[in-house]
Amino acid sequence: MDKAKKTSKEGFIAPKGMRDIMNEEYYLFQGFFEKAQEVAIYYGFKPIETPMLEQEEVFTSAIGVGTDVVDKEMYTLRTKGGDHLALRPEHTAPLIRAYIEHGMQNQPQPVMFYQYGPIFRHDTPQKGRYRQFWMFDLDAVGSDKSIIDALIIKTAMVILEECGAEGLSVDINSIGDKECRGAYIRELTNYYKKHMSVLPAIDRERLKTNPLRILDSKDPKTKELNIDAPDAVGSLCPACKKHFKEVLEYLEELGIQYTINKNLVRGLSYYTRTVFEIVGEPDENGNALSLGGGGRYDYLAKHLGSKKDIPAMGMAFGVDRVIQASWYKKHTPRILKKPKMYFIQLGFDAKLKSLNVIDILRKAHIPILQSLSKDSLGAQLAIAEKLNIPYTIIFGQKEAIENCVIVRDMTTHSQETVKLSKLLEYLKEIK
Ligand code: AMP
Repeated sequence: MDKAKKTSKEGFIAPKGMRDIMNEEYYLFQGFFEKAQEVAIYYGFKPIETPMLEQEEVFTSAIGVGTDVVDKEMYTLRTKGGDHLALRPEHTAPLIRAYIEHGMQNQPQPVMFYQYGPIFRHDTPQKGRYRQFWMFDLDAVGSDKSIIDALIIKTAMVILEECGAEGLSVDINSIGDKECRGAYIRELTNYYKKHMSVLPAIDRERLKTNPLRILDSKDPKTKELNIDAPDAVGSLCPACKKHFKEVLEYLEELGIQYTINKNLVRGLSYYTRTVFEIVGEPDENGNALSLGGGGRYDYLAKHLGSKKDIPAMGMAFGVDRVIQASWYKKHTPRILKKPKMYFIQLGFDAKLKSLNVIDILRKAHIPILQSLSKDSLGAQLAIAEKLNIPYTIIFGQKEAIENCVIVRDMTTHSQETVKLSKLLEYLKEIK
């Protein structure tokens, strides 16, 4: 039976390719988001959060047919009111929709945003591939300058380095603009037509809808054909050539290692000029997953209703993959604090007032652990010992009546009775 179709009798489980994020994994995500945001803010990006649902057309117009994301992987729905909506399969089209909707052309350009959250693609679940996964995006909208490409790539690399990555290299390519891309696609199409007899059916179909996609085909026969396929860089017009050369110069100056990968076109059809991908370390079978990627999308805005082209550049990390990388250095979320005290209560009178005492500790920013549902002193002390927490606060019947607590040093086993009114002062001293 399909995993997603279990009945309530057997117990419901999460839909296939989707999972509950909890315990350690939750903190890994949260730690990454905090670090990535911090770096992004230093480089001048501001936050935005767009809805998880958009009009389906935002994606079909922007990403285009002939792409896996639109043709096969989008979760679409019709609301009771008759609207056709889609769960976002990426962040870029919603961002440009928001940019146009809020007239951001009138702000100083480029407008730079970071955003993160769940993304939905009806993909085949496997290692590092989910149907709900998390992206962290960086975008700079409103400039066609090559330094903006470098800024996005540099910020992305710094985020990964801050997470422990070493020796990562960027795969990069330029797929030209409307001046030169047409000629390149014609050249490419002619090449594949000459080899039609070996081209698999799926790539023959792509030849009609989106020939560039054949370059990143996973089919072994096509892969072999692609070795000798004409490369886009050779067909670039002078303006695109200059742009690409400048981007590479920036990368060199920044000490970012790169490889020009002529087969890199990326899955979405809105890209122009620079496209890039950051690839992780290969697994035991030599397959390496892409940790993130992006590129320029100078013509996307017109597909979403802008009268003028709005040049832009962006990238997205697949966060699930980054936090699973072997080098990933865990960042503890800022709100998680190591407990300094273990709170023990005894008797109903103490239980009644316990939450108020815990609130005194919260206000003093003293992180604690407790087991309010336990009754015996022995059981509670045993937990405190096991957790290796430096101090316990013991709040019993007598202390509840006298408005005080016992503070016990778990290393020396010495203890002192402290009035509740003096507790904050006392705790400041032992902090
Ligand atoms: P894309 O927009 O397809 O280039 O995706 C950007 C990044 O998201 C990729 O580099 C991956 O790291 C990640 N990604 C894409 N699809 C999935 C998926 N199904 N599950 C997990 N991560 C994904």
